[in-house]
Amino acid sequence: MSNKIKAIASEVGSPPRALFGMLPAELKSLMEEFGQKGYRAGQIVEAIYHQRVAGIDEVTVLPVGLREELTGAGYTVGMPEIVQAARSVDGTERYLIRLADGETVETVWMPDGDGGERGDGSEASAEEEATDGLEGNTSEFAVPGVVAQKRDLRNVGALEMSGYRRATICISSQVGCAVNCQFCLTAKLGIKRNLTGGEIAGQVAAVLNRHGVKIGKDRINLVFMGMGEPFLNYDEFIRSVELLARHIGIPESRMTVSTSGIEPAIRRFAQEPLRPKLALSLNASNDEVREQIMPITRKWKIAALLEAVKTLPLGKREWVTFEYVLLGGVNDQPHHAREVLDLLKDMRAKVNLIVWNPGPGIDYTQPKPEDVQVFQKMLIEGGMPAYIRRPRGRDIYAACGQLKRTMSEEPAGLVEIQRASV
Ligand code: SAH
Ligand code: SF4
Repeated sequence: MSNKIKAIASEVGSPPRALFGMLPAELKSLMEEFGQKGYRAGQIVEAIYHQRVAGIDEVTVLPVGLREELTGAGYTVGMPEIVQAARSVDGTERYLIRLADGETVETVWMPDGDGGERGDGSEASAEEEATDGLEGNTSEFAVPGVVAQKRDLRNVGALEMSGYRRATICISSQVGCAVNCQFCLTAKLGIKRNLTGGEIAGQVAAVLNRHGVKIGKDRINLVFMGMGEPFLNYDEFIRSVELLARHIGIPESRMTVSTSGIEPAIRRFAQEPLRPKLALSLNASNDEVREQIMPITRKWKIAALLEAVKTLPLGKREWVTFEYVLLGGVNDQPHHAREVLDLLKDMRAKVNLIVWNPGPGIDYTQPKPEDVQVFQKMLIEGGMPAYIRRPRGRDIYAACGQLKRTMSEEPAGLVEIQRASV
């Protein structure tokens, strides 16, 4: 063992060092520190990102001595752990996930998440329509146009086996949030800390393990729409995208990141080689209303955000989504819809209308159903694709903006909460 490692090992109470989250080059340097050959890094990548093992002892391809040395030096796999699960009548599951330092975040699983406009917030539906019926059918019977009479069940993922076509996982990027949107429950927590890239990607791995998902066989979409503002934790968010896309195996085209609008980060994001789809939380049709409900507008005005969004080099089937939370009497009137049309008229855009989900201590009212219909109709008639996002998991507080710790903080073991009715 090198002196450096001995020093690490002797530090009493030093925080655990997670392998999960390290990129291959970093694992290679680590292995060199332990006097190992570079190929060991590849073995660790295979074990933690492909097999998604939970403990170093399960990485049986490594010699026992090396596993002991790693453990002795304070290393763990460090995949976050699901400590509570609540299941909704609509199949949505909400998890409380515990990180190494005991902080918790929430992650949501939405099986059969059927496209952004229909409920899960993802924007991957265009690709899905184009590839439907092809992907996952890796058996010789899966020729397009030929009915798959004899599917080889070894090629069917766990998701499909349980009757779902796909699932979307909604992940958190921070413990709490600093942005302080007036209608959002997460805002009430304030910001505690940023998540590391490993902790962001680790939520996905933990949920995939829970459901026995086989990457490449099951269709998984990701939305960065849980707790926190991903663009205020930019580098770690990008690291998580790299881990997820290149190592865990979920392509970035299946990911959507939602931002409240951090202008410099949007410009930076536009230049990224690995870039998920973008959703901007517009939420108001002019700066005055937006400032009231999203005080961050004082810093970056709508026009500046739209200019930044226009720098995105959009792919052929790509459009930018504008999320618009409808708050009764605040931003849901016909003149607001006209202003939205005016703002977005020269953009390849679509609007996801989200009926505001109430929460304790938040003083807004839900929009009237007829106002929601009129708003959507006006946008569509004005030439703007507009969808109403179906709320998911409302009964378990898993819908948009409802991710606040409503479950107990220190559970003993995994607690399963099943709600029978809404
Ligand atoms: N911080 C990022 C992503 C997380 S919030 C952002 O704000 O974009 C994801 C979406 O939920 C955002 O569009 C946000 O406007 C919306 N949202 C927040 N609170 C909500 C609530 N109570 N009801 C409905 N949508 C809400
Ligand atoms: Fe943060 Fe998004 Fe909630 Fe605003 S809506 S407080 S940015 S999580």
